[in-house]
Amino acid sequence: MKIEVLEKNETNLRVIVKEADVPLMNALRRIALAEVPSMAIDEVVMVENSSILQDEIVAHRLGLTPLKTDLETYNLPEDCECQSEFGCPQCRVTLTLDAESKEGTRTVYSAELVSENPDVVPVSDKVPLIKLAKGQKLKLEAYARLGKGKKHAKWQPVAVCAYKYFPKIEVPTKKCEDCQKCADICPKKVFTVKDEKIDVRDLLACNLCMDCVEACTIEPKPIKVEWEKNVFIMNIESTGVLPPERILREATKILDKQLKDFEEQLKVE
Ligand SMILES: [Zn+2]
Repeated sequence: MKIEVLEKNETNLRVIVKEADVPLMNALRRIALAEVPSMAIDEVVMVENSSILQDEIVAHRLGLTPLKTDLETYNLPEDCECQSEFGCPQCRVTLTLDAESKEGTRTVYSAELVSENPDVVPVSDKVPLIKLAKGQKLKLEAYARLGKGKKHAKWQPVAVCAYKYFPKIEVPTKKCEDCQKCADICPKKVFTVKDEKIDVRDLLACNLCMDCVEACTIEPKPIKVEWEKNVFIMNIESTGVLPPERILREATKILDKQLKDFEEQLKVE
C-alpha cells in the first residue's frame, strides 16, 4: 500500500491511498468514527443553576464541547484498574465552572471552564455554553472521561471521515459541438474550456456524479469518467480533540488488535 499526503494541517488530513480495497478503507473509516477514543464531559454535578436552562440541557451542551484528548495519560473507564463507577485520576478529569452575571446579560464561553489538567481543555475558547441574565448564576463540577463514538456521538473524534474512488477522466482531444455543456454542468467545476476544447482543471474534485457524461449529446460519448479500482482519496477532519493523522494511526492500531483477538479466538475454538 502507498500513501500520498495531499493536504495536512491541524484539523484536516487528505491522503491518496494506493493498492487498497473497499473493505479495508471502510473498516478504517468506521473505526475512526466509532472506536478511536476521545475525551468528553460525561457527568455533571450542579452546585447552582439559576439560569433559564435546565440542568440536563446545560450538561448536554458541556458534553458536546470538544476537549483536547490525552491518550497517553488516561485509560478508558472500562479498562482502568480502579474499576470504580466514580473513576480515578487515571480515568477522569475534573473541570469546574463558576459563572455569574453581575451586570446585564452575558454569554458564558468554554474558556471559563477550569480544568485540573492543563492538557485537557476545550479545543476552542469560543464555544457558547449558556447566556446568563443579571443575577443568574451557574456553578458546577464536570467529569470528563475517555469514551468511544459508538456509545455517544460526543466521543466521536472526527467531524468528517470519508473516502472516495480516485477519478479517471478522459476528455475529447479535439473541438466538439456542444463542448461547453459538460463543463458547465459539473457541480465541482472539474473542467475548464481552453480554445473551445475541454480540459481537466481539478481532477481530485470529481465526485463521479456523471452529470458531464449525461449532458454530452454526442454518440459515442467523447468524454469518459471512470475510477481507479484500488486507489482512494481519504479525507479526515478532526473536531480538534486529536490531530487527524493520530486518529488514523489509532484506527489502524485498533483494527490490528481486533484482528489479533480474532486470530486468538480461532485458535481456542
Ligand atoms: Zn480509574
